[in-house]
Amino acid sequence: APYPVFANGLVMTGFQRGSKQLGIPTANMPQEAADHIAHAVQSGSGIYYGWASVGNDATVYPMVMSVGWNPFFKNEKRTAEVHIIHQFDEDFYDHELRIVVVGYIRDEKNYTSLDALIDDIKTDIQVAEHSLKRPAYLALKSDAFLAPPP
Ligand code: ADP
Ligand code: MG
Repeated sequence: APYPVFANGLVMTGFQRGSKQLGIPTANMPQEAADHIAHAVQSGSGIYYGWASVGNDATVYPMVMSVGWNPFFKNEKRTAEVHIIHQFDEDFYDHELRIVVVGYIRDEKNYTSLDALIDDIKTDIQVAEHSLKRPAYLALKSDAFLAPPP
């Protein structure tokens, strides 16, 4: 199994298509990190979960991540978008995002309704929060990789 998969990078601006308005903002990883993640997890596109930390803050949060393709680049470039399961007071564009991917949740789907999409993401969040309680995954929460640079 490829897990855990470690990745980090500075948070990029995405399409700002309103995920924040839906209450589900996703922080976009830079291209190199997205490529690294997609290759490392082997199954490629899909929904994954694990741990994340941001910038100079050592706090580690649960996260769910969508790995897919960027329509703006004719689906030739990867995307990796991380929703951190925490309510932040401020955006963190350009801050370092560090993640540990511990597993795969499901395949990507095409949605005909926004409600169906939101429902599935809420289920993904529950799956992630539940599964991250396993001792082996909990141990990764304190992995040195997630610590901010000195
Ligand atoms: P974009 O298209 O630029 O990714 P989003 O609407 O998806 O816009 O919002 C993502 C941004 O919101 C992130 O880059 C980050 O700065 C901020 N943000 C605030 N809270 C969170 C969170 N819990 N998870 C991920 N990003 C968050
Ligand atoms: Mg986003």
